[in-house]
Amino acid sequence: MAEVTYFSQECPTCGRNLHVRVEYLGRTLICQHCRGKLIARDPAIADALPSESSLRLLERADELLGMVEQRKNYPR
Ligand SMILES: [Zn+2]
Repeated sequence: MAEVTYFSQECPTCGRNLHVRVEYLGRTLICQHCRGKLIARDPAIADALPSESSLRLLERADELLGMVEQRKNYPR
């Protein structure tokens, strides 16, 4: 049996929740309600992509890790 997996995404134009097939990820879709265009994006995947703010967080984490490393290299 062919099971189709959907994820829900909010239409940026009309704000309604759309059910998008996973195979349409990354494609341009037409909203069935308002005919606005949107790009299919799984929010979970979008969160995993490095946005500007998460990049800064990573840099900060690297700094902190570097400090820990330095303490290890120079024990009291
Ligand atoms: Zn819409």
